[in-house]
Amino acid sequence: MNKVKSFAGGIHPLHAIGSGKGLTQSLPIEELPAPKRVYIPMVQHIGAPCAPCVAVGDHVARGQKVGEVRGFVSAPVHASVSGTVVSIAPHLTIGGNLVPCVVIENDGKEEWAPECALGERSPEEVDASAALAAVLEGGLVGMGGATFPTHVKLSPPKDKRIDYLLLNGAECEPYLTADHRMMLENCKKIIGGVQVIARILGNPQCIVGIEANKKDAIARMEQAAEGTGITIASMPVKYPQGSEKQLISVLTGRKVPSGKLPMDAGCVVVNVSSAAAVYDAVMLRRPLTERVVTVTGAVGQPRNLRVRIGTLVEELVAYCGGLKGEVDRVVSGGPMMGMALFDLAVPVTKGTSGVLALTREQTSPGKLTNCIRCGRCLKGCPMHLMPFELCNDVEKNDWKAAEKHNVLDCVECGSCTYVCPAKRAITSSIRIAKRQVMALRKKK
Ligand code: SF4
Ligand code: SF4
Repeated sequence: MNKVKSFAGGIHPLHAIGSGKGLTQSLPIEELPAPKRVYIPMVQHIGAPCAPCVAVGDHVARGQKVGEVRGFVSAPVHASVSGTVVSIAPHLTIGGNLVPCVVIENDGKEEWAPECALGERSPEEVDASAALAAVLEGGLVGMGGATFPTHVKLSPPKDKRIDYLLLNGAECEPYLTADHRMMLENCKKIIGGVQVIARILGNPQCIVGIEANKKDAIARMEQAAEGTGITIASMPVKYPQGSEKQLISVLTGRKVPSGKLPMDAGCVVVNVSSAAAVYDAVMLRRPLTERVVTVTGAVGQPRNLRVRIGTLVEELVAYCGGLKGEVDRVVSGGPMMGMALFDLAVPVTKGTSGVLALTREQTSPGKLTNCIRCGRCLKGCPMHLMPFELCNDVEKNDWKAAEKHNVLDCVECGSCTYVCPAKRAITSSIRIAKRQVMALRKKK
């Protein structure tokens, strides 16, 4: 095991909200029974939406494609149960948008599509191009929440040499433990996925970065990686350790220049659960139809659940004993980067890592005051931005100044908002500025 140093900036979000990981980190992954209906959104990724390729009344098998890609930056979607398509219509999704969904009535037969039932592939069958094709067909996206299509990430231009494949096992968001449990319970599959991805990328050096507070996962992953040449690195506990640019800096010492991508620093970063999904899709011929979700916070019984894509969040919450106490907000993801839900009747997608119920006490923003120029936001920003200046730019609607202050480098980690004693909604303001600057760039 390698021990590495931390990155500059960042925070330890433990004092006010607690890490919350103790609620679920020792609980084995449980299978949530498949629901009676699943709602499969045509948008579960960054990029072009899918187009439905089934019709109402069709019988579909699990793993059958129900949404086809309409562009390179996209990922197909598949049925997560066998049954009958009962509707194709817009449905509310986690982001608060109405998105076309293929709704399937589960027949309970658990019948897999013929192409998914051909058994395991042998390693000789899977050269780099066959593996990449299977990644695309499997509908894989970044499962840490970014949802960038994996086949695009694994297809760098020919002039970009990839020296490092970095596996993100940081799971630095408070409360979430789905990746931790995946590393404990599916370590061999993750290592198998790393080997497949490494083959696609021309065998770069592979490093799995895990935060030092997951000692059991480090030990399990080291055992699984023995003899493979894959390094397991123990990283200091700090937020946002799992952000791509911070992970690259910590594990390789390289810097991703402003406005550039990890591949510009010779790196590809993949989440550990995504690596397991790559193994499923490439070696076991199983597309992405389920994922592990941490359901936690103010619920009857917090759990880590293996959930079919398209299951409504309200069903996960009900299985975990419902909401408990004075719940103010239910969030998809963790408390730092998660998204508040308007409605719990929204389907779990490929990027849903957690469902967190927060009480009124936890969400109370405190009294808003003027900026006192304390500089805490500056010190905590892992991207070395000036959050208070960006806030001022937003107040003045000065998008040119925001661009000059590198607003697009913001990774929306929420560290500035978390540390601000004036309780300013800095990250929300910055999100607005990013949208405005992007819109202005498109107009040029
Ligand atoms: S400015 Fe952006 S990157 Fe910096 S701390 Fe705030 S949210 Fe994080
Ligand atoms: S942390 Fe808040 S009060 Fe302090 S400088 Fe930043 S915006 Fe101002």
